[in-house]
Amino acid sequence: MNNLIERLTKTFSNFPNIGKRTASRFIFYLIKLPREQSTQLIADLTELFKIDSCPICFFPIFKNTEKLCEFCSDNSRNKNLICVVEKENDLLAIENTRRYRGVYHILGGTILSFSQDTERGGLRIKELLERIKSSRFPDVGHLKEKHLGENGIEIILALRPDTAGDATNLYLDKYLKPLDVKITRLARGLPTGADLEYADETTLSEALNSRK
Ligand SMILES: [Zn+2]
Repeated sequence: MNNLIERLTKTFSNFPNIGKRTASRFIFYLIKLPREQSTQLIADLTELFKIDSCPICFFPIFKNTEKLCEFCSDNSRNKNLICVVEKENDLLAIENTRRYRGVYHILGGTILSFSQDTERGGLRIKELLERIKSSRFPDVGHLKEKHLGENGIEIILALRPDTAGDATNLYLDKYLKPLDVKITRLARGLPTGADLEYADETTLSEALNSRK
């Protein structure tokens, strides 16, 4: 029994922002869960572990029923406007502004934090570059605008406004510049050091609109 509790405490305390004490509270809460709720939880977790990621932007998808995520498969979105975010929750924060009609690329961390943020232990930079080079969405020529790079693609670097985000922006610039894409960044205005996912919708929306 103790081994089980120790193992689960370790698992939960690996969750973001969860310490050992909170982790053990979770376990004792779970132990007392009514049968109906625990059965549902087990079923939900089993479903959760069937989730894979979109082969284009890496947002979670159900592999059995979906080939691409809801954003990549949405034909009304501008596929030449790619917003690079650190993690899934940042994508959702941008979606919540309801102002953005492009697509995304989930990097999986910053260059200072990637080792714990992606299952493969690396940022998805190669995937981003390949995505741009192979231009998986060749049918959007009509969306090409003059202010965009030669190949009509704009990359919005929407990383956290702190040292880790800045360092990652610089790192990405180096790889993106030779591809002749237009590179923009969220306007300053987001509180420095604030996680994108906690930014309020108006501020985030403005930072996105006045990107440069
Ligand atoms: Zn996708």
